[in-house]
Amino acid sequence: HGTADGAGLETGVEVNLDIHLAHSARMYDFYLGGTTNFPADREAAGRALAVFPYARSAARANRAFMRRSTRLLAERGIRQFLDIGTGIPTSPNLHEVAQRVAPDATVVYADNDPIVLLHAQALLRGTDQGVTAYVQADVREPEALLEAAARTLDFDRPIALSMNALLHFVPGRAHGITEYFKDRLPSGSALVMSHLTPDFAPDETARLIQVYTAAGTPVASCTSEEFGRFFTGWDVLDPGIVATPRWNPSPDDDTERISDAGASCYGAVALRP
Ligand code: SAH
Repeated sequence: HGTADGAGLETGVEVNLDIHLAHSARMYDFYLGGTTNFPADREAAGRALAVFPYARSAARANRAFMRRSTRLLAERGIRQFLDIGTGIPTSPNLHEVAQRVAPDATVVYADNDPIVLLHAQALLRGTDQGVTAYVQADVREPEALLEAAARTLDFDRPIALSMNALLHFVPGRAHGITEYFKDRLPSGSALVMSHLTPDFAPDETARLIQVYTAAGTPVASCTSEEFGRFFTGWDVLDPGIVATPRWNPSPDDDTERISDAGASCYGAVALRP
């Protein structure tokens, strides 16, 4: 079976990458023009692009939403960040955005794909004052994930939990998992989320879901009503629930011109009262 020989050299970690199977993190990296992907990932990504021509713009819009939401929360004084479903790093990553505003910010990254672990060193290069940590964990085991995160984060102080373009990969469990996390975050904490939606390009989105499911990765999309339920009981920040490029657009990123269909993901940020 397939392993990428020597791929662990940078970190000294040995992992089995299963390069003959397409992985969501590596397909996403391909949409973004990255180089951390293998033929099986590129073939599956090609099939996805054939039915859903928005994959590249959706991924770019999503990265930019992560950067704008992180910056805003750091500016509002949040100093702890937990990013689940981190993905293969792109620059600037979440810790760089947060630590540019607040050099003392603490950032914990979590992903279940071993390819992300191989890039952990790039994710851990932070400021001298700040702390960055990486935990290899599965969002479907939220208790173990939080236990690992609690070695670095103080759960008595506000934490910004981001789960961007992640929960569509856990069909049927996304709301339960989110409530589990929300219960454990203190007042003043933030929930940042983006999620695939069929609301803007229903036919293409349905076909995208078929392609991922056929490739062994079940995916679900959610309507604005279903997306809104993730934030129940928390105060959703302006402008509310919108397509990711419409969320507090900033002239200094290049995703403002992406249409709602081109993003096909909702994004929102809410604070725990
Ligand atoms: N959050 C990043 C990357 C999104 S791609 C961004 O918005 O740009 C989705 C990521 O979620 C991939 O890195 C994939 O490995 C990860 N992922 C998928 N299922 C997961 C699970 N069950 N637990 C943890 N991470 C998961």
